[in-house]
Amino acid sequence: MEFELSENHRQILELLKWLAKEKLRPLGLEYDKKEEPIPPDHPFFKEIKAMGIGIGVMGGDDGGEKTEAESRLKSMLGDKQNPMLATLSILAAEILAWGDQGVFMSFPGPGLASPPIRIMATPEQKKIFYDSFKGDEPKWGAFALTEPGAGSDVARIRTTARKEGKYYILNGEKMYITNGARAEWVVVFATVDPKLGRAGHRAFLVRKGTPGFKVSRIEKKMGLHASETAGLLFEDCKVEEEFLLGGEEYYKSKEGFKGAMETFNMTRPAVAAMAIGIARAAYEYTRDYFAENYMLNAVSPFASRVRAELERMKRKLDIARLVCVRAAYLMDMKKPNAKEASQAKAFAPPIALDVVSKCVELLGEEGTLEYHHIVNKAYRDIKIFDIFEGTGQAQRIVISKRLFASKGKPTEWTETT
Ligand SMILES: Cc1cc2nc3c(=O)[nH]c(=O)nc-3n(C[C@H](O)[C@H](O)[C@H](O)COP(=O)(O)OP(=O)(O)OC[C@H]3O[C@@H](n4cnc5c(N)ncnc54)[C@H](O)[C@@H]3O)c2cc1C
Repeated sequence: MEFELSENHRQILELLKWLAKEKLRPLGLEYDKKEEPIPPDHPFFKEIKAMGIGIGVMGGDDGGEKTEAESRLKSMLGDKQNPMLATLSILAAEILAWGDQGVFMSFPGPGLASPPIRIMATPEQKKIFYDSFKGDEPKWGAFALTEPGAGSDVARIRTTARKEGKYYILNGEKMYITNGARAEWVVVFATVDPKLGRAGHRAFLVRKGTPGFKVSRIEKKMGLHASETAGLLFEDCKVEEEFLLGGEEYYKSKEGFKGAMETFNMTRPAVAAMAIGIARAAYEYTRDYFAENYMLNAVSPFASRVRAELERMKRKLDIARLVCVRAAYLMDMKKPNAKEASQAKAFAPPIALDVVSKCVELLGEEGTLEYHHIVNKAYRDIKIFDIFEGTGQAQRIVISKRLFASKGKPTEWTETT
């Protein structure tokens, strides 16, 4: 890999570093103490919308009309000399998660709804969707795939879509949906016939307020308190047929729906980079704590253990970051990256968990007694990274399938990457 970030990209990362330190970190600690999500009418959301952040930074570009600030940021991002947007997103994700991951996940904008829209939606659907994010008011999008009986194995989704005249009638339940209660639009995955497996899957754009679409609960979590995680109910929810993503034709080829799943090749390395951001925050706190307490230069068995542990943490985080950057860089180079994306997701979160856990251990009382301490908080925030966006086990299955793709015959050893 050989790349150089442009001056524009560096400026964007500097802006995000400032935002992470001055805004995300204090807000994240505040809502961790409150143990509730930041309300949608919090002034912070208007503030970042006015800065142009929240729509395009995480690779979620769109085609919708933009405010002046959004256009300025977009033109800085779209530097033709240096088309490194996926790589830039990885670096941005780490920085913002370093500030606070729960706040970062609450950023207004199309969010996780954007990747399936970009890949599957018709031009008319894209226009309706993205145009609704225009203006000064913060709005959210959400992605609803997981159900009580279907997480890793998406073929098991049981939310049904029954065609009736010009409508689809949705019935079922979704759980753990990020920003699901505040979302203007939710991309909902359902099945027209559970017996068909993936071939029966359809995705719908469901707007807030559609009769039969209800928020059943807001989850109480051990970490990421600032972020809203909702349960959604669909009871005879009537969705106009023009909101079937991509239209019926799209699903005639199985490849189409598979294409939507390939958006994970972008999002998995970014989620892995977020785990690195959280762990780096804990590592830096621990390093500075011992530096301030004159421990790092001391001659004692404990001081040399602290130095050795800090070195090991830094080395592992640096390696994990490289694995994430490689997956994104391949995407920027328009090369296949499915295996590398899963490797990043399988590799970085356990490293991050290990680093944070070691920080708690080294800090002793400082790290364990104060519940809302930044390192304690990191410990509660980090575990989920080995679960959402595909669990660690699921990634290992994906990777091993690719290693033995040819009827059990090893393919990997012939590769040079
Ligand atoms: C904070 C948060 C936010 C989320 N946001 C969203 C969202 O916005 N939209 C959305 O759709 N979902 C969201 N999710 C759901 C998340 O993607 C799922 O939790 C995840 O996919 C795992 O599914 P599950 O919880 O049903 O676990 P399961 O799939 O039931 O897995 C349970 C355990 O079994 C293991 N396992 C499962 N199958 C196998 C196998 N074949 N071999 C070996 N081990 C296996 C898993 O690795 C895991 O350890 C979110 C979850 C959380 C906690």
